[in-house]
Amino acid sequence: MKSGFVAVAGRPNVGKSTLVNALCGGKIAIVSDKPQTTRRRILGVANGEGYQLVLADLPGFQRPRDPLTEHMQRTVDHAFQDVEGVVLVLSARERIGAGDRFVAQRVFSLDVPVVIALNKVDRLKPGHIASQMATAARLGSFLALHPVSAKTGDGIAALREELVALLPEGPAYFSPEQRTDLSVEAQIAELVREKALALTREEVPHAITVETEEIEDRVVRASVLVETDSQKQIVVGKGGSVIKQIGVRARPEIELLLGRKIFLELQVKVRPRWRRDEALLERLGI
Ligand code: GDP
Ligand code: MG
Repeated sequence: MKSGFVAVAGRPNVGKSTLVNALCGGKIAIVSDKPQTTRRRILGVANGEGYQLVLADLPGFQRPRDPLTEHMQRTVDHAFQDVEGVVLVLSARERIGAGDRFVAQRVFSLDVPVVIALNKVDRLKPGHIASQMATAARLGSFLALHPVSAKTGDGIAALREELVALLPEGPAYFSPEQRTDLSVEAQIAELVREKALALTREEVPHAITVETEEIEDRVVRASVLVETDSQKQIVVGKGGSVIKQIGVRARPEIELLLGRKIFLELQVKVRPRWRRDEALLERLGI
């Protein structure tokens, strides 16, 4: 069979995680409108007739500011070893600018084929898409350029075919039913974090991390960690309304993942400076 790894690169928020989910045909990586949603490398597996395409969804490229972002950047650097190609993701809805050129420079210096995915073309005028394609084409010598919408699925099949064509003959790295390299605990923590991100704003999303404490037959316990008391108040909400809503939204997705009904017990805890806690970052796989 054809098999191998392809890295997905791009500046924050261009839709890398959404694209990985679309290419794999299911939810693997969580998505939000907040930058830095993806904190660690997540592998998504796309299995098809005669191939296994493994996509590495990465945190966006950025200049490290603290131990958390430093860990994230190190993850990105390592992920480029042993890949058959890179998908450079751009957003057609925004100006292709310095941030994209910064990522492009790194990606085009790698000596592997680069496929550009110009994402978010849904609801854009053809003329606008064409001019964004022309700008994208000037970033470096790419193998192919695909306008796509990770959201609607437009152009995804053609992009997948293009990436599969890069793969050499090789073994299956994952069993057919395994869709990601994340443990079940990590997947649950990510799903809870996704809902917490959607319900918070400003500095709060960056201060949140989630740890799965226990998975029992009928009960799943997880802690939402924040850095300060005021953040805790926000995440708990008036009369517990926010944390309740996080649970309401996360539970069905966790049940889908586990294949059974569960109670989800969430606790909000203050863990000052968790972003600087190397041991915790290690445990969270960041
Ligand atoms: P990442 O930071 O690059 O991984 O970006 P995400 O996958 O988390 O997506 C960032 C935001 O862009 C989210 O709000 C997504 O819903 C949105 N998004 C992703 N792909 C598309 C797309 O094809 N079209 C539109 N309109 N929005 C998209
Ligand atoms: Mg992401």
